[in-house]
Amino acid sequence: MLKTRALNAYDTMTADGNGAFTLPGFETHYAPSLALEPKHLELHLAVDLDKRGAVGQLIWIIEARRSGETAMQLNAVAVDIESVSDLDGHQLDWRHDGQTLFVHWTHPSVKGQTRRLEIEWTVSAPKSGMFFGCPPDGSSEQISWMLTDHETERARFWLPCIDLPNVRTSLDIFLRAKSSYTRLAAGRLVSETEHDDGTTTSHWSLEQRCPSYLLCLAVGDFSVADGGEWNGVPIRFFAPKPYTVEQLQRSFGPTADMMKWMTARLGVAFPYPKYYQVAAPGVGGAMENISLTTWDDVFVTDETLHAEWGWLVDLINLHEMAHSYFGDAVVCRDYAHAWLKEGWATYMESVWLGDTRGIDALHGQMYEESIQYRREADGQYVRPIMTRHFNSSFQIYDGHLYPGSAWRIHMLRQIIGESDFWQAVTRYLEKYSGHVVETDDFRYELETASGLSLARFFDQWIHSPGYPKLKCQQTYDAAHNCVQITIEQTQVGEAFGLHVGLFDVELDVAIQLDDGQWTTGTVKLDQAKHTLTIPAASAPVQVVIDPNMKVLHALDFKPGIDLCLTSITDAPTVYGRIQAVDALAQTPTAANLDAIGQAYKTEVNLTVKKAFLRALGQTETNYAMNTLIGLLEQESEVQLMSTLIDQLARYRDPRVEQALVTWLDLKSRPYIANGAALKALGGQRQARHIDRLKAAIDDPCWWGWVQRDARIGLGKTRESQAYESLLALLEDDDVRLQVRLGTVAGLAESVRWLGDSERRRVCETLIETTRDEGWRYGISVARALLTIGCADYAGAIESISSRMAPQWAPMFGHCAKKLRAKDGGMKTSDSEIQSLKKTVQDLSGRLQALEARLAQDHSDD
Ligand SMILES: [Zn+2]
Repeated sequence: MLKTRALNAYDTMTADGNGAFTLPGFETHYAPSLALEPKHLELHLAVDLDKRGAVGQLIWIIEARRSGETAMQLNAVAVDIESVSDLDGHQLDWRHDGQTLFVHWTHPSVKGQTRRLEIEWTVSAPKSGMFFGCPPDGSSEQISWMLTDHETERARFWLPCIDLPNVRTSLDIFLRAKSSYTRLAAGRLVSETEHDDGTTTSHWSLEQRCPSYLLCLAVGDFSVADGGEWNGVPIRFFAPKPYTVEQLQRSFGPTADMMKWMTARLGVAFPYPKYYQVAAPGVGGAMENISLTTWDDVFVTDETLHAEWGWLVDLINLHEMAHSYFGDAVVCRDYAHAWLKEGWATYMESVWLGDTRGIDALHGQMYEESIQYRREADGQYVRPIMTRHFNSSFQIYDGHLYPGSAWRIHMLRQIIGESDFWQAVTRYLEKYSGHVVETDDFRYELETASGLSLARFFDQWIHSPGYPKLKCQQTYDAAHNCVQITIEQTQVGEAFGLHVGLFDVELDVAIQLDDGQWTTGTVKLDQAKHTLTIPAASAPVQVVIDPNMKVLHALDFKPGIDLCLTSITDAPTVYGRIQAVDALAQTPTAANLDAIGQAYKTEVNLTVKKAFLRALGQTETNYAMNTLIGLLEQESEVQLMSTLIDQLARYRDPRVEQALVTWLDLKSRPYIANGAALKALGGQRQARHIDRLKAAIDDPCWWGWVQRDARIGLGKTRESQAYESLLALLEDDDVRLQVRLGTVAGLAESVRWLGDSERRRVCETLIETTRDEGWRYGISVARALLTIGCADYAGAIESISSRMAPQWAPMFGHCAKKLRAKDGGMKTSDSEIQSLKKTVQDLSGRLQALEARLAQDHSDD
C-alpha cells in the first residue's frame, strides 16, 4: 500500500509528539495457528450497485493440519449470515455475534482430512472494505462503480474470512453484475456467462494463494486502456467514466517498461497472469491487490497535473508493482514483519531511479526518504522497525515502515555489495514465492549469499529503535600533514527517555585537496567518539561526510564557510552539496544566502534544488525571503513551484503578498502550486484577498485541487466573513470529498481565533456532519477539533472513531489524547507519569555515574 506523501493520508500530526507509538491497551500480536487451514476459496458474489450491496455464497476448502480440531472462527462484521453448512456431511452448528462467525463440528478433525464449509450471506451498504460510488465528475447520482479495498483488516466487512495475512487460499471467483459493467477480480479470466436477467457472471481464477487483504473485486462502468504487455503478461488500466482512455494512458503508460526493468533487475518473472490497474475516487493512495492494483483517482492526471507530479505517479506505479513480488508472492506472515514488503516497495522506487536516471536520482530519493523518516523519529516517536506491539495493525504503516525500512535495505545493499546482494534477493524471491516469510528468512538469504553475519545489524537497525546522530568536526594538522575528523555518535530516542545503544557502522569521509584530488577514509564507528586521520599535503578544500549515502544518520557538521562555499556547487555527490547548504544556512549572512541562491540556479538535481529552497525558507531572514521572491519570478520548472511557494508561506510580509498576487495573476498555473499560493495568500491575513479566495472556491479545476486549497486559504485569513462563508459551505456544499475536507480544515483555521461560542458552534456542527461519513472525513474532523482546541470535545473524537473500522482507532485515539492535553496540559495520565518517573530515575542514575567519574578524573589529576 502507499499512503501517499502528497495526500498526507498518513499524518504524524495525530501522534503525540511525546515518544509514544502505542496507546494504552495495545496488545502483542502474533500470526494465528492454522490447525484448520483454508486452502481454497470458491466465491460466488452477485453485486447490485443500485442497492449498494451483494449476495454471496462461498465455499472454503479447509485442510486439517491437526487431528482433534472441532472449532473455527471467522471474521464477519455486520454481514447477514443466512446459512453455514458442511458440504461433506459433517455435522456442525454455528453462531454469529455480528463480529465473529463461530463454527463447531460435532466430530473432531483427522489430520490430512479436507472439509468444505459453505456460507451463504448478504451484505448491504458495508461501512468499510467494499465501496460504491457515482461518476467522478458528479454528472449523475447513480452508483456507477464498486471496488474493494482491505488492507489491513477490512475484508471482514463484507466477506466471512480469517482476515489475517498468513491465511491464504487459491481462488475461483464468480462475480455477477449487470452485463454492461466491467467485472474484475484476481487472476485470469476463465469465462463469462450471460444470464436472462441482464447480468453476466465473470469467472476469475488464481492458482497462487491470496490472503484476504490482497483480494480485490471491481465492478463498474469503466473506461479501459490497453497498456500493452510484457513477456506475455497483459496490462490494462481502468477508471469509472467519464475518465478517458487518454487520461489513463497518460497516468499509467510507463507500466510495461517498468515491468521489463523490474523482471530483469530482480531476475524473476512477473508472478501473476495479468497486471491490471483500476483507479476510483476515495481509495486514498494505492493498493497492491494481487494482479489488480487499485489507485485513488487523484493519480489520474490531465496534462497540467501530469507535468507537476507525473514523476510521483511513476514512483507509486513502481512501488505497487514491486509489491507483486514483495508482499503478494512473498507474503509477510503477520503485520509485525510488514517492513519486508513496504520497505522493499519503497526502496525499489529508488533502485529504479538509480538504474534509469543515474546515481544522483537514487541519492536524491534516499535523501527525501531520510528526511521523512527522521521527521517522525525526531519529532514523534521512535520504534523498532519490526514490532509486535501495536493497537491496530494499520498503525505500523508509518514513516518507520516506509522510508525508515527502505533505508535499512539500502544499507544492507551497501554492506553486502551489489553482486551478492541481488543474488540473495533473487534467491529469496524464488525460494519464498507462494510462501509466508518472517524477518529472519530474509536475513538468512543475505547471510547465505555473502558469508556475513548480520545478526548484529538486524538487532540494531530492525529490532531496536532509533538511529545515530553524528556530530563531526574537521581540523587540518599542518605539523603532521593530515586532516583529522572527529565523529561523535548520539542516539535519537534518548530524547524520549529510551535507552538506545550505539550503532556499529562504517562511515566514509571524503576530502579534496587544492590539486583537485579526492581521498576517502573510512572509520568503523562502534564507540561514542572516534577520530579519523586522512593524510593530506595541504589543507582540504572540501570535506564531505558519507558522500555516497551509505549510512542512515542525522548530521551536525560545519566544516567552515570557505569549504561549504566550494562544496555547494562543486561537491560531486548530491549529499555533499546538501551538507554544504545545511551548514551555510546555519550562518545566514547575506553572502551565504546569495551563494545558496546562485547555486540554486546552476544546480540540476531537483531534490538538491528543493533542499536549497527549504534551507532558504528555514533561515526566516528578510534576505532569504527576497531571494525566494526573486526565484519565484524566474522559476519555470513546475515540479519546483509548490516547494518554492511553501517556503515563501513562512513569511508574512507585504513583499511576499505582492509576489503571490503577481504569480496568481499568471495565466497558466500548475494546480498544486496554485493551491499552495492560495493558502500562502490566506496566511498573509489581509481582508483584501478574500474576494480572490472566494472566487477560487468555485474554480472548476481538475480533481478539485484549487477548490480545496482555496477553502483552507480562506480560513487562514482569520477574517470573520471567511468563517461565515466556510460555515455555510460546511452545511451545504455539493462537491467532492477532498474539497469538503478543505472546508473542514479551513473552517478550523478560521474559527480558532474567535470566541468560545463560535468555536463551540463549529465543533458541534462539525461533529454532526460526520454521521454518514467514512474514516477520511472523520479523521479530518478530528484534526479540526484538535486545531480548534476545545478540550471537552475529545470524547466526541472517540465516538466518531467508534463508528469507523477499528483499524483507524489509533489515529483518532492520538488526536483525542492530544486534545485533552491542551486542557491546561495538566491532565497527565498514569502511564505518562510512570514513564516520566522512569526517565527521572534514568537521568539521576546517569548523573550520579557522571559525578562519580568526574570525581575520579579529578583525583587522577
Ligand atoms: Zn506499499
